[in-house]
Amino acid sequence: MKASQMIIGTLKEAPQEAKIDSHVLLLRAGLIKNEVAGIYNYLPTGLRSLKKVENIIREEMDKSGGVEILCSAIQPKEYWEESGRWFKYGPELMRLKDRHEREFCLGPTHEEVFTTLMRDLVKSSKQLPLLPYQIQTKYRDELRPRFGLMRGREFIMKDAYSFDKDEKGLEVSYQNMYDCYSRIFTRLGLHWQAVLADTGNIGGNGSHQFMALSDIGESEIVYCDECGYAADVEKASIKEIDLDNSEMLPLEEKETPNQRTIEEISGFLGIDPKKTAKTIIYHDYVNNKLIAAVIRGDREINEIKLCNESNSNENYLELAKDEEILSLNSIHGFCGPKGLECDIYIDIEVANSKNLVIGANKKDYHYLNANYGRDFNGKVCDLKKAVAGDLCPCCGKPMKQERGIEVGQIFKLQTKYSKAMNCTYVDEKGQNVPMVMGCYGIGVTRTLQSIVEQYHDEFGIKWPLNVAPYQAVIVPINYKDGAQKNLADEIYETLKKNGVEVVLDDRDERPGFKFKDWELIGVPFMIVCGKRASENVVEFKVRSTMEKTEKTKEDAISFVLNEIRNIQ
Ligand code: ATP
Ligand code: MG
Repeated sequence: MKASQMIIGTLKEAPQEAKIDSHVLLLRAGLIKNEVAGIYNYLPTGLRSLKKVENIIREEMDKSGGVEILCSAIQPKEYWEESGRWFKYGPELMRLKDRHEREFCLGPTHEEVFTTLMRDLVKSSKQLPLLPYQIQTKYRDELRPRFGLMRGREFIMKDAYSFDKDEKGLEVSYQNMYDCYSRIFTRLGLHWQAVLADTGNIGGNGSHQFMALSDIGESEIVYCDECGYAADVEKASIKEIDLDNSEMLPLEEKETPNQRTIEEISGFLGIDPKKTAKTIIYHDYVNNKLIAAVIRGDREINEIKLCNESNSNENYLELAKDEEILSLNSIHGFCGPKGLECDIYIDIEVANSKNLVIGANKKDYHYLNANYGRDFNGKVCDLKKAVAGDLCPCCGKPMKQERGIEVGQIFKLQTKYSKAMNCTYVDEKGQNVPMVMGCYGIGVTRTLQSIVEQYHDEFGIKWPLNVAPYQAVIVPINYKDGAQKNLADEIYETLKKNGVEVVLDDRDERPGFKFKDWELIGVPFMIVCGKRASENVVEFKVRSTMEKTEKTKEDAISFVLNEIRNIQ
């Protein structure tokens, strides 16, 4: 490709909206261009890398027995009513009507469609197992689209669904996909970690997320170096503290004027926040009632665990308004579980502690020495977010914490969709049996940006060779100089003939300007034809290290060919 014929949309500065390096670089390098919030166009260089990421995913899926199909983005409401998700999916679902007032959505995921397809296509047990997949555009009206391709409202996903005869089959399919994902993210050069995950909106039980490790990741994970346990903090359990056997002291009502937060109350009383419990009241719109969660004062609530316990849904759970709290004869800032008339969920840690400070449901008052069982009751469960230092649930050693970008997730759906949507096969006894399903997603565009997040420096992107938009670029210092032009053309033709994806920068621009462009775009190898062109000597730059060496024409060519040959 000649640079003069390319659309090179590099920018000196990124638009203000870009907050993280990879987003800045994708925009500045002219790989993507923003249309409206969370919606992007892929420009030629961006598209080339995207296709390479897709192809690596495709190759590994095919190797694992996947069969590629392509479904429509538009899905009829009826499918979603059958699965019970039309209401449950909430405002993230982009809904639309046709001219006949028939309702549809733009698919945020495709469980319903794949289940319907297999229901219609599979009749006999002999056809199973099956692993159809697609690489396709998804739509989610995210509350906060941000960080470029990381959280878009339109994005590309690889989604696969496994259909097995039984649980045993699902176990095999799930492990097969776990291994496939491990190969994909390794081939893509990512530093990644698989973690236990919650199943969220998708349903079923048993799930792993694949995290690209990064400080800018929106997910928090805890892991144990000792035994290898790793989980998203939304899912992570911890080894709970033992029951405190101290004596219960007499309950005491204490005036605490204007001391609302845990920080204020523990400062005021001169106690450790661990000796307090906070009560958070929510409106659960699924079951349409107020519920209370009680966790230790130093802890953060894990709303996902609360939803799992209360059969609610995170999209339909909101903090209660002041007047709702008043309706429970309590008051914001002084809520406590004693005498509170609603469903109460109590974290195990609170139940196992003694003599805690709790709100008295009365303005400017708290109780001292409150104890679960004696002073308040409720359903005891795990409601807290795990943090670094919490003990591993498997081996009891302190865990560490890191941030990650969720690039993929796999789920054991079991028969959640096949039962609801009547996706069955006829077994040996002639009976209709629901297929046992798994589903497996990779955020393709999010993965693309995660690579940039892990591979960049102050000059731009440092693409791994197998996903770089071009593998090599030839930059003549002055293309009008005969010797330089001849050498550049010759190397260009030779590399092209040998299958290298190469650019010849024939633009009439200053050399510094051209170098900056290719460093920003991140082409792995740059061959500069300059003052020693007449001797067939070039300057050879490796983008990942910014190392420069002089090489003969032959050496430069064979170096690149050798590297290309070794691509995984
Ligand atoms: P998140 O928790 O980040 O919102 P999710 O768990 O809802 O993601 P899944 O339904 O598991 O996402 O979708 C499969 C994959 O699609 C995710 O692992 C992620 O890589 C990607 N993905 C999900 N939402 C988005 C988005 N808004 N923009 C880009 N990629 C996304
Ligand atoms: Mg997920």
